[in-house]
Amino acid sequence: MGLDRRSFFSTLGGLIPEEKPERFIRPPGSGEASDFTRCQSCEAPCIGVCETAIIRMDEAHTPVLDFSQNGCTYCGECISACPNEVITPGGGAVRMHIAIDPLGCLAWNGTICSSCKDPCRENAIKFLGLYRPEIDISRCTNCGFCIGVCPTDAVKTEGML
Ligand code: SF4
Ligand code: SF4
Ligand code: SF4
Repeated sequence: MGLDRRSFFSTLGGLIPEEKPERFIRPPGSGEASDFTRCQSCEAPCIGVCETAIIRMDEAHTPVLDFSQNGCTYCGECISACPNEVITPGGGAVRMHIAIDPLGCLAWNGTICSSCKDPCRENAIKFLGLYRPEIDISRCTNCGFCIGVCPTDAVKTEGML
């Protein structure tokens, strides 16, 4: 009798909340008080200065991060370019929950894979034996470089309000 996805995540101390209102992964510098309605009338210079091209506009014309091809280097250029003080130096790192889904992960299912571990500059992905990778949240910076490289999209993320 294996764990289903929901009960597994509940064993991670509620890492992925059960209630899921719509949440977005915002650029670094996005604090709880960031008012993204200000972005709706902005020409969004943050997009053009991002050296890894991960900032996109969502349907409401507010910036979200797309980790499907790349990650955040924390260069800070988006924060410097923001003319409306929506993202600021005091806003901190990218705010998101991140975890490896063992149901989708090749390694958790017996195939050798370390695609997520290889680009992690913080050595935050630990394998228990050969086959059970987990993200050490105490080391993880939420840079997102491990996400798009996973061949089965098993690195799951969710933005924080
Ligand atoms: S900190 Fe740099 S790499 Fe990260 S989203 Fe901003 S501009 Fe892009
Ligand atoms: S890259 Fe994906 S499939 Fe491979 S070990 Fe990491 S989470 Fe599992
Ligand atoms: S998001 Fe965390 S685990 Fe993934 S590459 Fe960045 S530091 Fe490593």
